[in-house]
Amino acid sequence: MWNSRWKGKRIPLGSEWGKCLLCNRWSFMPICSHCFRELETPPKLHPAGYFYFYRYEEIALLLKYKYHPLGSGPLKLLARATFGNFPKFYKSEKIYSIPIDPVPERGFSHTAIFATALPFPSIFGLYATGQVKYAGRSKEFRLNNPRNFIYTGKRGIKGILVDDLITTGTTFREATTVLEQAGVEVLFGVFLATDQI
Ligand SMILES: [Zn+2]
Repeated sequence: MWNSRWKGKRIPLGSEWGKCLLCNRWSFMPICSHCFRELETPPKLHPAGYFYFYRYEEIALLLKYKYHPLGSGPLKLLARATFGNFPKFYKSEKIYSIPIDPVPERGFSHTAIFATALPFPSIFGLYATGQVKYAGRSKEFRLNNPRNFIYTGKRGIKGILVDDLITTGTTFREATTVLEQAGVEVLFGVFLATDQI
């Protein structure tokens, strides 16, 4: 089943065990070592002050693996190729990665997978109580329909917010406010992809 493209190549979705999802060549892993090296990329600093790895168009297809029948395997490799390259710094300080709304869907949470790939311990305590879906909605809709986050994790720490995608930044700002009210100093956000470039 060939139905989309990655870096100009046609790629199979719904690949079988034993084949690379991106090039369809024989591989023990869902993404072969050659394609894994192509995916690897260092974090980049966005002018708005957060870190990202890809432009949204570059990674839109791979994000569909959130729902891939092979489960979390491809996402874990993608997380390792990106978030896993984040530099470890401030060794003496207690810094935690905090995924935004790490609720498992179909058995795993993509934000939890990305957060745990960073070289910091993770805290799962930031959840959205609103049932609003933001995909494809305007900035105005997002501002009028806050996610209503609650935070139940450790206080008095420094945190790095993690999500798969940043668009308008509304979610990031709302999450930051809730964390700071709970005594967490938010250093910055790290996102797999941005569509703001
Ligand atoms: Zn491959």
